[in-house]
Parts: sequence; structure tokens; C-alpha cells
Amino acid sequence: MAVTDHVNFATFMEGVNKRNPHQPEFVQAVQEVAEDIFDFIQDKEAYHSEQILRRIAEPDRVVSFRVCWEDDAGNVRVQRGYRIQNNNAIGPYKGGIRFHPSVNESVLKFLAFEQTFKNALTGLPMGGGKGGSNFNPKGKSVREIMRFCQSFMTELYRHIGADVDVPAGDIGVGGREIGFMFGQYKRITGEFTGVLTGKGLEWGGSLIRTEATGYGAVYFLENMLKHRGQDLTGKIAVVSGSGNVATHAAEKLVQLGAKPVTLSDSGGFIHDPDGLTQEKIDWVKTHKTHRRGRISDYADHFTGATFHANATPWNVPCDVALPCATQNELLGADARALVANGCTAVSEGANMPSDLEAVHVFKAAKIMFAPGKAANAGGVAVSGLEMSQNSERRSWKESELQVMLHDIMDGIHDRCITYGAQDGKAGGYVDYVKGANIAGFKKVADAMLAFGVV
Ligand code: NDP
Repeated sequence: MAVTDHVNFATFMEGVNKRNPHQPEFVQAVQEVAEDIFDFIQDKEAYHSEQILRRIAEPDRVVSFRVCWEDDAGNVRVQRGYRIQNNNAIGPYKGGIRFHPSVNESVLKFLAFEQTFKNALTGLPMGGGKGGSNFNPKGKSVREIMRFCQSFMTELYRHIGADVDVPAGDIGVGGREIGFMFGQYKRITGEFTGVLTGKGLEWGGSLIRTEATGYGAVYFLENMLKHRGQDLTGKIAVVSGSGNVATHAAEKLVQLGAKPVTLSDSGGFIHDPDGLTQEKIDWVKTHKTHRRGRISDYADHFTGATFHANATPWNVPCDVALPCATQNELLGADARALVANGCTAVSEGANMPSDLEAVHVFKAAKIMFAPGKAANAGGVAVSGLEMSQNSERRSWKESELQVMLHDIMDGIHDRCITYGAQDGKAGGYVDYVKGANIAGFKKVADAMLAFGVV
């Protein structure tokens, strides 16, 4: 194909829209990446003629299956399970499993697509995948969750493997659920292998995996500030979510001298102007995870805090913001409010929490904006290190892992600068979305070129 015959961005997106009807989240994720990639590959013939972006935006396979289980009352329940294996050009498929009623093919395809670039950015040999089910763990007994996990794995086991596809946790899937799924995998196959990450420390898990995503998002934020000659000391931080990522992001913010003042869940957000402390964060961890409580209870428990029902925290004035709950939780109007209130940096702990309009607002305002695929890669990075430890049949020390996580986040930041620095000046504006998209794409694309048309 002559260079002038290249498919342009608009035609490409038209095709993506046509091939993926009723999959808005997936189309949104592809569009966000394609906007930058078309610019980058303009003069790079091989990426065009080998249709690399078109191939990455078509999952290697989409596995969908029925999951039957019995509830405590003896009723038969039927859910849908999925595993999306997006791309394994640079390593086994890798990505979490999400249990949430909002799970559908579009959401998981967007997550598997994003995961492909994120995993490449870490520098570790991992391809991209994602899985899950529309099962709602809220209000279920532990036995019900166990039976569901066992039934889910009874089908999933045939599609995964330590060198094939290595799932992990995500929303609604923590250490307990990984335990139930690993137990069932081992029971069916008779093999003790590193087929899942996020495992318990007694049975092949890695230290700091639980903390890694939230901590990593704060390390990335610290790197962005450092690039501009600033640090986190005294910075007011607005955090959304109150799960694994949010609570650990808040914890690291406190450790580094910042002042997180909000947390949220699907019922609303709490505002604590005095700032969260380690003691308050520990209370939230226990309350949300073990007691399965609501964040609204925080305001009854700690004086000075207020609860705002059915609202997100983006109107609270802050210096930095960390959306750590879910996709599309920060919209264009929220982004405008953050910028107007003086927020200068956003680090996405969640996957695609900012919608396209919000991303465009941040870019136009030239604030520091780290997309999830760069900022929240610390979790999957430590999962990659868990795979290495499993292969070696060893467990590394916490101090070693802390250094590795920090190094990996620094490396991702450097790669973003390489492809995203806009004016070539030290400390100048960096388009982190562009930097992350191009750095992630290039690694996967070059591997694909080496393999020919497969
Ligand atoms: P958790 O299940 O531990 O927590 C999710 C949090 O988000 C809960 O506070 C939940 O509130 C809230 N939430 C869910 N849906 C909504 C909604 N529609 N509106 C407002 N709040 C909502 O999940 P994680 O902390 O693990 O994951 C959070 C995000 O981070 C996800 O986008 C995930 O993909 C991403 N991520 C996670 C990684 C990890 O290592 N865990 C790795 C990389 C990314 P409620 O209790 O009301 O449901």
C-alpha cells in the first residue's frame, strides 16, 4: 500500500464502531489510543501495511460461558462468565477478573485492550487480557461466593495456564476469591502452578501485591510533580473509591506528607477536611472489606466529616486528584470543576475513570494528567513479579519488591516523557496520555512485526 493510501483516523474509527455495535466503552478506549497512534505512525509504513492497530483492536479471542451455581436457599442461579484474551505478542495474557453487575463484553474488551498497553509499559513480558462475570458479590454469603468461584473456574481452567493466561483480581475479586478459584484450578488439574496472581502469601503470593496499585499511582504522581520541581508535601488530595486501590493510594499519600480529604463508593462520598490518617484508613479498610459496610458510615464515626449522597468528590477544592473507583466516574463537567478549583495533577488509580471529554479538558488546560494505563500499572507489575517468583519457586523480600515497584513506576514515567514531552524543555509540559499510548503501542507493535501475519 502506498503511504498516501493509509486508512485515516476517521475511517478507522468508523470501522471500529461498525464492528463493535453497542460496545461504547470498548470504542471509547480504542478511540483514546488511536487519536495518538495515528499521529505517531503517520510516516511509519510497516505499522500501516501490517495493520498493527487494527489487529490489536481485535481481541485474539473472546470466551463467553455460562456459570451456574446454587444459592443458600437452594435456588439455581445462572450468570455469564468471560475471558477476553486481547494480545499475547510480548508474553502470556495477563489481566484481572471483575465480578460486578455492570460487567459485559464491552467493558471487558475495553479493559483487555487497555491492559495490553499497560502491561507493555511496565517493561515486563506480559500480554493483555481481562475477565469476569456479571455476578454481584454484594449481599452474598461466603459460601455462595465460594460456590460461584468454583463454578466460574470449572469452565475458565481450560483457557488459562501459567504460560498461557494468568488472571488476577479486580473489582469484586480480592484474595479470598483468588483463593477459591486457585483451589478449584488445583483440584481440577492437579497442578500447583502460578496460574493466578494476587495469591495468599502462604501459597505463592507476593508481598506488596495488595498495596501495589494504589502505592504505584502515588509514586507516578510524585514523579509528575518532581518533573515540575514540586513534591507532595502539604498537597490536598481528592480520592474517589474506598476499595483496594483507593485506600492504598490514600495510605501512600499520607506517608508522603499529602492530605487526602475524600473517599467514595457507589452511594456517595465523604469529605473530611481534617484529612485522612492511617488510623482512619485502617478503619475504612476493615469496614468496607471485612464488614462490607458503606462509606457513609465514616461520617457517623469521625467528627468533622460529612457524607454527600449520590455525588462524586470532584467539586471539592484540591491540588491533586486520584480517581480510584471505576470507569467513567469523572466527566467533562467534573474535569472543568477540578481545573477551575486549582487542581494541577490527576493520577488515575482506576481504569479509564475519566471520560473522553474530561481527558480533553485536562489536556487543553495542560495540567499533569496520568492515564490509568501508566499510573495504575504498579498492580500488574507486582503481579508480573509474582509470576517470576512462582517460576523460581522463591519469595522475594519486601524491601526488594518495594525497590522494584518504585523502579518500574519511574521507568513508566520515563517512557511517557520519551514519547509525550511536548516542548523539549526540562520540566516542560508532558502529554502523558500520548506518551503512554505510544510507548505501550510501540513495544507490542514491534513484537507483532517480528511474527509476521499471524
Ligand atoms: P474494589 O472492588 O476494591 O473497590 C472498588 C471501589 O469502587 C469501591 O469503593 C466501590 O464502591 C467503588 N465503585 C464501584 N463502582 C462504582 C460506581 N459506579 N460509582 C462509584 N463508585 C463505585 O476494586 P479495586 O480498588 O481493586 O479497583 C478499583 C479500580 O482500579 C477499577 O477500575 C480497577 O479496574 C482498577 N484497578 C485495580 C487494580 C488492582 O490491583 N486492584 C489494578 C489496576 C487497576 P461500592 O463498594 O459501592 O461498590
